Amino acid sequence: MAAAGIVLAGGKGSRMQSDIPKQYMELLGKPLLYYALKAFEDSDVEQVVLVTTEGDEEYCKKELVERFGFSKVVSIVAGGSERYVSVWNGLKGLKEQEPDYVLIHDGARPLVTAELINRLIAETEQYGACVAGMPVKDTIQMTDERGTITLTPKRDSLWTAQTPQSFEFSLAYDAYERLMQEPEIHVTDDAMVVGLYHDIPIQMVRGSYTNMKVTTPEDMVLAEAFLKKRG
Ligand code: C5P
Repeated sequence: MAAAGIVLAGGKGSRMQSDIPKQYMELLGKPLLYYALKAFEDSDVEQVVLVTTEGDEEYCKKELVERFGFSKVVSIVAGGSERYVSVWNGLKGLKEQEPDYVLIHDGARPLVTAELINRLIAETEQYGACVAGMPVKDTIQMTDERGTITLTPKRDSLWTAQTPQSFEFSLAYDAYERLMQEPEIHVTDDAMVVGLYHDIPIQMVRGSYTNMKVTTPEDMVLAEAFLKKRG
C-alpha cells in the first residue's frame, strides 16, 4: 500500500515578525522546513509534494530539495490564499500518482518523526482516517463575545489536533474537491473537512507534546531546544 505526503509551507508566517519567511528561518543551522521534509524522507512514505508560497518554487528546489537530496519530493507546487487551498493544490499534485494514503503535514512542525509518520500509515490502513494529537493539559473553556464562560467541557475527552493527519487518498481528494465548491465554509483542520463530507469515524492517534507548530519567535527557541535534546 503506497502512502504519499503533502508538506505545507505556503503560509505567510505573519506572526513571526521577521523579513525572512518562517519556513526558511534557521533552526540549528538548517531551514525550519528541512526537518519535516527529512522526517518524510526517512519514513515509509513514497512520494512527497511540497507546497510553497507562490514564487518560491525554484528557491525550494535549489535550497531544500537539491541541497539536502530529498529524493522523495516529486513535485513542488504553489499554495493558495488559505491553508485549505494549499492542501487542495497538494492533493491535485498527487492525483496522477493516485496513492492509497495521503498524510497532510504542516511544514511548520519540525519535530515530527518518521516513527510517527509510519505509525499513522499503519493506523490509516486500519481506520481510513487518522489525526495525530495529544490530550490537553489545561482546562479548556468556551466564552461568548464578552468573554463570559459559556461551557467547560470535560477535560478527559479533549485533545489538541496536530499534524500529520492521514486519510485514504480518495476520501481526502473527494472531500476537498467538494469543499472547493463551497468557499464560505471556514475550516482549520483536514479531519474537519473529511468529516464534513464523509460519515466515517476518524481515529485520534497519539502524537507527541514536542510536535509543536512554530508560529511565534518564542516557538523557535522551544523548537531548537527540543531538536537539540533529540540529537
Ligand atoms: O497558518 P497556519 O498556522 O494554520 O499554518 C499551518 C501550515 O499551513 C504552515 O506550515 C503553513 O505554511 C501552511 N499554510 C499554507 N498555505 C496557507 C496558509 C498556511 O501552506 N495559505
